Amino acid sequence: MWQQARNVRLLAMDIDGVLTDGRIWLDLQGNELKTFHVHDGQGIAMAHRAGLRTAWISGRASAAVRRRATELGVTWVYENVKAKVPAIRDIMQQSQEPASAVAYIGDDLIDVPVFHTVGLSIAVASAPPDVRAQAAWVTRSAGGAGAVREVIDLILRLQGRWDAVVQELFGTDW
Ligand SMILES: [Mg+2]
Repeated sequence: MWQQARNVRLLAMDIDGVLTDGRIWLDLQGNELKTFHVHDGQGIAMAHRAGLRTAWISGRASAAVRRRATELGVTWVYENVKAKVPAIRDIMQQSQEPASAVAYIGDDLIDVPVFHTVGLSIAVASAPPDVRAQAAWVTRSAGGAGAVREVIDLILRLQGRWDAVVQELFGTDW
């Protein structure tokens, strides 16, 4: 798993239950509200600074997701995806990255086929046990509570790039 993390150049992830805690708030007009963790947003900014590209793949669609993705400059955003393997294959083709350079973070059964398609499969701590059992790595943090940041911190540290990225972004010695 450590070697796979060193190879990652494209970090793909599910949205609900990974970037959020999985709860979907619906108002009376049917609008969806979601909460994103700022630590994950900072992690995605760090990943981009390190030259990694990112992809969000969701079975749902919401304006909140599109707004957050735009804020963070997420490279690929796929919504309304009913089968995620064709989506990840499409992204791999566009990015010209082999499966061995792709990591994917998921939290539910729909994500498991993707786990078997990419080089590094990651489940969040809050994923059901059957999903966690299919992943090469399980985060300590729950979805929506910094799990994506945890993954990015570890990948950048294993790639030896964490210090340089933080130095570039925050201009201080670590
Ligand atoms: Mg999910």
